[in-house]
Amino acid sequence: MNEKAEKIKNAAILIEKFTSVFPDEEHCLDLLAQLKWKEGFVCRHCGHTNWCHGKSVTSRRCTTCKREESATAHTIFHHCRFSLKSAIELSLLLCHIPDISSYELSRQVKLRHMTCYQFQKKMLICQQGQPENKLVNELLSEVAVRLEN
Ligand SMILES: [Zn+2]
Repeated sequence: MNEKAEKIKNAAILIEKFTSVFPDEEHCLDLLAQLKWKEGFVCRHCGHTNWCHGKSVTSRRCTTCKREESATAHTIFHHCRFSLKSAIELSLLLCHIPDISSYELSRQVKLRHMTCYQFQKKMLICQQGQPENKLVNELLSEVAVRLEN
């Protein structure tokens, strides 16, 4: 098998494994929420730390000022035009197969080529030391741990 074919095979295996552990959007949001607030919730508006679940199970609402924050807010995954699951799949592929082409990304995650290309660019900027990168790294290592088990 040539190098390119092997890469494509590895990418497909990775996506399949990921989907078996994180079958839907809810699982992905749940993971992101766990990591984002692992040191506890602090309201960005009033600084209080008491919260209850918001409109979605994975968002948190400050019990003092009632403002709600979603799991994706203030992360690289905010305002993505596609699902968090697809975004994590893209991140995973970019992390494990750094020289994967945006065309191959597009085939693997079933999103438009331009969408993958733009996300790839966004990730590159993020890897150059944006604070959001810490969360992405934590997310990817947590995913790696769960895929191992
Ligand atoms: Zn508040």
